[in-house]
Order: sequence, then C-alpha cells, then structure tokens
Amino acid sequence: MSIKPLIILPDPVLRQVSKPIERVDGALRKLADDMLETMYDAPGIGLAAIQVGEPLRMLVIDLAKEDETPAPHVFINPEVLDSADQRSVYEEGCLSIPDYYAEVERPAAVRVKYLDRDGKLQEIEAEGLMATCLQHEIDHLNGVLFIDHISKLKRDMVVKKFKKLARDKPSGSKAPGKLVG
Ligand SMILES: [Zn+2]
Repeated sequence: MSIKPLIILPDPVLRQVSKPIERVDGALRKLADDMLETMYDAPGIGLAAIQVGEPLRMLVIDLAKEDETPAPHVFINPEVLDSADQRSVYEEGCLSIPDYYAEVERPAAVRVKYLDRDGKLQEIEAEGLMATCLQHEIDHLNGVLFIDHISKLKRDMVVKKFKKLARDKPSGSKAPGKLVG
C-alpha cells in the first residue's frame, strides 16, 4: 500500500466526471487499498478516486472512531436509487479543501447500489453520517464539491483563497494552466 498525493482545490481535475469501472481486478483493489491508506493518513472518513487523480467511479469510507476497530468500505460504481424527503445538516469538510468547514443540508437517508471490492452487487440503506458521507463522495464522482452546496458568496471566497494559496506555493506549480479553477 502507498499514500498518494491529494488533489487540492482549485485543480480542475476535481471537476472531471469519473468513468464507470468495467472490471474489478487486482489493480483496482490495490488502488482501493492505497486510497484507504491515504485517507487514514490525512486523516479523513471518506475519499473518492478522483481526489488522488484517478477519474474512476470508486470511493472509500471508514466512519470508525479513533478508538474503534477500522471498518473500511469500498464502493464501486455507486448509484443513488432513492433519497429521503427528510433533510439533515452536517458540518462538512473535504481532504481536497483543507481546513475549511461548512454546514451542508442533504437528504437524511439514501439507498445506494454499488459493487463491493469483490465485484459483488450490493445495496445499502444509509442514514446519519453514512448517508451524508456517501452523498459527498458520490458528488466527487460527478465533479461536484461540497462548496457547491453553500452560498455563492461563501464559495467564491473559498475558491479565491485556494487560488491564492496555489499561486503562492513555491516550486514548479506556477504553470498558468494550473490556476484555472
Ligand atoms: Zn470531499
């Protein structure tokens, strides 16, 4: 397993729509393991493949607390089948938007079908934090970020801040193409 570099706002890679996975094989499982290791290292509770630069429809989630046994979940080609009318609000953050948090309102429960790491079709009825986390990560697969769910004013401020950070970063990251949000 290895830790992969995270793609950070405003990198346009984050806006790509990820492609469906056609075959669940050893290489894909290796990527899932690397994503889990990268997520644990960060640390975070969810990570989509595009956040490590792989435009594939796969995400990992582990909601276990620090003193609990790890409970890694791998979701391949996840698809929301149903969303509850009821809403819930969580303070969200994102490994691609470090140190920024904002309250986001989403459906309180979702039914999602996906393939597990063995390529077996599964369905989950998620609620609470799992429902929010799944929706946040599935958004990533569609090029959507949690800041797209907050006010335009707040979003513009965050994007501006991260563009400035990227610009001020030393070393070879000053290529003009890099700064297009
Ligand atoms: Zn995220």
